[in-house]
Amino acid sequence: MQEQYVDKNMPALISDLQKLIQQPSISAKSLGLEECARLVVRIMGQSGIKAEILRLGKNIPPVVYGEVKSKKNPHKTILFYNHYDVQPEEPLELWDDKPFSGKIRGNKIYGRGSADDKGELITRIKAVEAFIKTTGDVPCNIKFLVEGEEEIGSMHVEEYLKRYQKKLSCDGIIWEFGYVDEKDRPVISLGMKGLLYVELSVLESIRDAHSSLAVLIENPAWRLIEALKTLRNKNGLILIKDWYRRG
Ligand SMILES: [Zn+2]
Repeated sequence: MQEQYVDKNMPALISDLQKLIQQPSISAKSLGLEECARLVVRIMGQSGIKAEILRLGKNIPPVVYGEVKSKKNPHKTILFYNHYDVQPEEPLELWDDKPFSGKIRGNKIYGRGSADDKGELITRIKAVEAFIKTTGDVPCNIKFLVEGEEEIGSMHVEEYLKRYQKKLSCDGIIWEFGYVDEKDRPVISLGMKGLLYVELSVLESIRDAHSSLAVLIENPAWRLIEALKTLRNKNGLILIKDWYRRG
């Protein structure tokens, strides 16, 4: 039954992936982002996912939000993080075909974004669609956050999370990538970590000072080194108060 489903629906998955690849969406050049976001909304909608565009303001690439509520398990929510933007296509001379061709050769699809991250995005959308069509439900609530600035540093993700906190709340996140190993087994890496950081700055003199004054004015670099030493112990345990406290 499941194999039949995959056989029947694989052409749609491939052609939707080609459509996504053929829509350039280069965040570094602000090229095609709106169009690509709208295309993702359309593909999600056709797959039974309730999709919409979230915005922060003009000139900030939109985020695509998708959602399917589970009937039998509505108390757990998983969120798929993906991005619809891609890296610039240069250097052009290294491409055999046009960078956004989506051309198929053998069992591979070529084009910028086919692997990072449009391929991953489309398989997730289609996996959700397969669940809906074969079982009439999804195993838990599913949410999608698909942003358009990953390749240039995700500058606005934090703001999106704050603005749409309730909408984007979830119990766990599946990050943007995934692999199949040499034996064709899907690989899921657990325990992806984000960044949590502190910034230290030291100011000693308010203007440049000649090196001969080193005996009078302490070099702030040394004070910074002393400060850095207080951040963790020899075993790597972070000593900042409440660092390990949850929630
Ligand atoms: Zn990526």
